[in-house]
Amino acid sequence: METKLIDGKQIAREIRAELKEKIASYAEKGLPAPKMVVILVGEDPASKVYVANKEKACGWIHMQSETIRMPEETTQEELLSVIRRLNEDDTVNGILVQLPVPKHIDSEAVLMAIDPAKDVDGFHVVNTGKLFTGASGGMVSCTPSGIVEMIKRSGISIEGKHCVIAGRSNIVGKPMALLMLQENATVTICHSRTTDIGRYTRDADIFIAAVGKPKMFGADMVKEGAVVIDVGIHRTEDGLCGDTDFDAMLGKVAAITPVPGGVGPMTIAMLLANCVKAYESQMGLKA
Ligand code: NAP
Repeated sequence: METKLIDGKQIAREIRAELKEKIASYAEKGLPAPKMVVILVGEDPASKVYVANKEKACGWIHMQSETIRMPEETTQEELLSVIRRLNEDDTVNGILVQLPVPKHIDSEAVLMAIDPAKDVDGFHVVNTGKLFTGASGGMVSCTPSGIVEMIKRSGISIEGKHCVIAGRSNIVGKPMALLMLQENATVTICHSRTTDIGRYTRDADIFIAAVGKPKMFGADMVKEGAVVIDVGIHRTEDGLCGDTDFDAMLGKVAAITPVPGGVGPMTIAMLLANCVKAYESQMGLKA
């Protein structure tokens, strides 16, 4: 079987082009560009790279961006007071606190302090609650919403399929399951306590791997003709890899996302899309 590569980089490029066009059309009407503010606390090297990538992506579509860098010793109250100020600031449409925050700060309290209407990461309980009930207008976590978008734009139908998700984190696995349910898939969620995980993964029409373990899933763990979405990203001696054994899957599965160039670029594209959505709703514009 020929395996189709799901090109997240290309699909993300298309989404960015659509957003850029929207922002340009608002500019023509004399409206300001949407603005995203990212708060980075401390010196985590990976976080610095992620934040730089987000700034760059905002620039590509002519969205305004600002990064507030705060030292490692920032207190929780200091961080909360910055968030409160941004919540009140009408020129700011999206707020994101880069995780992880230093250990002395309660990340839950920080995420709940962000105005849900500006919560472009979609982590606030108001937004996760809207996802749970299927209410409209909420912000959805960027990695899972990017995956749904990528599957749809690749012409793969979801309805009626058995979707098996390995991983149940609040950021990926759980919202992923809810979104696939919304798309009328039949969903199975596996995790570290699942016994005989292959029993489930081998039955998947769409298999989403989000466990954070390099190449944990080989070709023997999926069925022929499945669609494989690999969320994992790991730096190894042989370069970057995902949670699945990409090379082994080729020829067996119908479609697969590469690492890098699959889910990663989609996550940032959806972050931009969330900020434009927040802007449109705050400005009273019709999306
Ligand atoms: P996480 O919070 O560490 O969650 C991992 C999940 O996998 C947990 O639910 C865990 O189960 C489960 N798990 C761990 N070992 C397992 C095993 N041996 N068998 C079955 N399940 C197992 O990670 P995450 O934030 O969801 O991220 C997952 C991966 O995606 C990471 O590699 C991360 O770097 C990557 N990621 C990529 C992007 C992107 O944009 N490309 C975005 C987010 C995350 P328990 O709940 O039982 O512990």
